[in-house]
Amino acid sequence: MTQKDLFAQKLKIVKSELGQTHLLIVSKTRSIEDIKIYYELGHRDFGENRVQELLEKSYSLQKDCPEIRWHMIGNIQTNKVNQLFSVSNLFAIHSVDDRELVEKMIKAQERLAHEVFVFLQFNTSHEAEKSGFETYTELEASAELLLKCSKLKLKGLMTMGTLRTDNFEAEAGRCFQDLQVEKEKLQNELNIKLETSMGMSQDYKIAVREKSDWIRLGTMMFQ
Ligand SMILES: *Cc1c(COP(=O)(O)O)cnc(C)c1O
Repeated sequence: MTQKDLFAQKLKIVKSELGQTHLLIVSKTRSIEDIKIYYELGHRDFGENRVQELLEKSYSLQKDCPEIRWHMIGNIQTNKVNQLFSVSNLFAIHSVDDRELVEKMIKAQERLAHEVFVFLQFNTSHEAEKSGFETYTELEASAELLLKCSKLKLKGLMTMGTLRTDNFEAEAGRCFQDLQVEKEKLQNELNIKLETSMGMSQDYKIAVREKSDWIRLGTMMFQ
């Protein structure tokens, strides 16, 4: 079987499980050639977790994959925001995890050539090494700042399920339900419509069950 046949098969299987959920293929550490194969199969949404790698890949794929939509999903240092905003075809940023970053992005937004969607990351697992907003109050304050923006468009909330646990299925379910609760609260308070980005290779089936709008799959799409 060729690589293309294998990827086509994976796409078909995953998509048959998704319903309304969108698939974001996490291409971090994967080659330009592998990304091109998924693009040729019709896929458009790809996620990276490092600004430098995203910059390089977006540049390399500019000609061959003009309709690609890049999603930033990793931790962003405030001094990398200008670089991030120079990525052509940047579509969304899922990992906006504190107010300082929000303020820095707002200051830099005029550099953007087009609108970019923003997901605020909420720490539902409360694991110390995970980043993200910790309280609803902080989340709402940053959401309000973003609602005044011209180029940055608040799109939704992102979270990661608990990784180190003996019962990751139950824990992921709890994390994803928590995110839906925060989303509903924000929607009602601010009178807006929001999406969710939750679920990775290990726990995406639970995320689909909890009606995530986006799942982010890396490992299982490339094995
Ligand atoms: C790497 C990564 C993913 C994909 O994880 P897999 O287990 O490889 O599917 C999803 N979200 C974020 C934030 C990541 O860093």
